[in-house]
Amino acid sequence: MRVRFAPSPTGSLHLGGALTAVANRRFADERDGALVLRIDDTDPARVEPGSEDEILDDLAWLGVSWDEGPFRQSERAERHREAAEEIGVPDDEGAVRFGRATLVRPDGRPTYPLASVVDDLDLGITHVIRGQDLLPSTPLQEEIARALGAEPPEYVHHGLLVGDDGRKLSKRARAASVRGLRELGLPPEAVRAYLEELGLPRGDVHFDEGRLRRLAVEALGALSDGELAARAGVDVRLGPALRGARDLAEAREIAARLETPPQPASSHSPETLARFAELRQAAGEELAPDEAKAVVRELKAVGGDLRALRLALTGAERGPELWAVLVALPRDEALRRAEAAG
Ligand code: GLU
Repeated sequence: MRVRFAPSPTGSLHLGGALTAVANRRFADERDGALVLRIDDTDPARVEPGSEDEILDDLAWLGVSWDEGPFRQSERAERHREAAEEIGVPDDEGAVRFGRATLVRPDGRPTYPLASVVDDLDLGITHVIRGQDLLPSTPLQEEIARALGAEPPEYVHHGLLVGDDGRKLSKRARAASVRGLRELGLPPEAVRAYLEELGLPRGDVHFDEGRLRRLAVEALGALSDGELAARAGVDVRLGPALRGARDLAEAREIAARLETPPQPASSHSPETLARFAELRQAAGEELAPDEAKAVVRELKAVGGDLRALRLALTGAERGPELWAVLVALPRDEALRRAEAAG
């Protein structure tokens, strides 16, 4: 079994394309087959510079590997023209035609239907798994394959991912591309899991951002504090404070807020801050979670006002658990903040 994923390099990877890629990877894995990556760049006017690298990077981010390639159609134009000459007829303008279809344009460029079939045959592709939008190309492609003396691969078309209006996901919507989801801070495991869940939809499916976000919460929940901090690109001691974040963008916001000292405001409980300063001074430069919890417990035991401490340290009434704030702030910084409010 050999399948291929054949994106056109017209931008970064669209979520619909990612669905096709994941479906092909799974098809190959379940049958001990191979996935070939092919770049469909027959039309130089539509090729966007940098797009191929972005697509490869997006696939790697999603954890979709390929076994062969990437092959570029632009490097096989000679082979495509040869095949066209076998089965087509040149017209007056210099194009090569096959029935009503154009195989090679007057300027010598092979067209998509021809290039795709020739490559599928040469690469030994047994199953073409792709979006329903390509269904109209199939009869012609089967005909071209047979004219070339080959049995066409088996074609499987899946439903498309559509927006709330039932139309193809808008290219402009951030959530419509793998890159956009990555920028929104969704972890790759969640995007991959969402696409795996969709599988090979028979009909069009509405993109369900809510479901994707629930999967993101699950994926972040499965990470250790250290991994979570690393994913957010922040210092490891901030890990426990990021626990409530629903995506990595939120995690980075929490981290940024913690790292910004609050506006100094005088506290209604200077005694709590003074006691905290004593306890914090006596402990090490960095607090482990257990040590931080012990500090909070001691303050509570002497009737300390934990709300006042939180306000002094973070400037906000709500936020990460207090012990996680203590783990996040280095000793000197915590003391500075307590003093500024005390
Ligand atoms: N390159 C085509 C596209 O990105 C896909 C071609 C195919 O799968 O046959 O729409």
